Amino acid sequence: MNQTTSTSASQRMPTLFIGHGSPMNAIEKNDYTAMLENLGRTLPRPQAILMISAHWMTRGTGVTHMASPKTIHDFGGFPDELFAVQYPAAGSPQLAEKIQASVSSPEILLDEEQWGLDHGAWSVLRHMYPKADIPVVQLSLDMSKPIEFHYELGQKLSALRDQGILILGSGNVVHNLRRISWETKAPVQSWAKEFDQWVKEKIDARDFQALIHDATKSEAGKLSIPTPDHYYPLLYILGASKPEDKIKHIFDEIQNSSIAMRSIQFG
Ligand code: ZN
Repeated sequence: MNQTTSTSASQRMPTLFIGHGSPMNAIEKNDYTAMLENLGRTLPRPQAILMISAHWMTRGTGVTHMASPKTIHDFGGFPDELFAVQYPAAGSPQLAEKIQASVSSPEILLDEEQWGLDHGAWSVLRHMYPKADIPVVQLSLDMSKPIEFHYELGQKLSALRDQGILILGSGNVVHNLRRISWETKAPVQSWAKEFDQWVKEKIDARDFQALIHDATKSEAGKLSIPTPDHYYPLLYILGASKPEDKIKHIFDEIQNSSIAMRSIQFG
């Protein structure tokens, strides 16, 4: 006999890659932030969020284990209003421990004090969940590992989606700060557009091996990924996705000339 339950734990959560772009998006109102607000209102409500942000780079893989992660303002040269932002979501030591227990390789380290929530996390979450009433755990990027490591760890985390956890990668598929224009609507660099389209095509074809191994083989790819930190979160989400997930490109603007805000929902 089938029993229906109303808990979100019985439902597989979608998994998301969100382009976060300039920290100014945290305090601006634009088409992008409207998209995030809408997402927060329409997605099934998660029990907790596992956030994989481009901005926590480590040796070894850590998860935040504190009950109240601090809001980290990991940038310089922005207005005071941005430094005043707090995102007081609770942590989830329980989720951190569950991740540690369920992933045997790599060893997952519990972080008690180094990190908290960086702007890759809160600049997105404050639009999606403005009440900060969903617990958040951050996972770090082990920069000493080869690129496929990040995809494979995403695969190992995928089962959390069946336990009410929203796995959210926050980075940018095109992220070149040397070519940036501080005008949000600046003319788009042709190589940025080319690489962004390539990523879209490979995602739609579910050619994840190309996204892992071929991204920086082209000139456009080299310019789009001068350093891999903002690209890696996408690989976790590809790993966490399932073949049966519907793919939705929920945003695809290129901001500031060289920052692709492409955001993708699986499931
Ligand atoms: Zn960033």
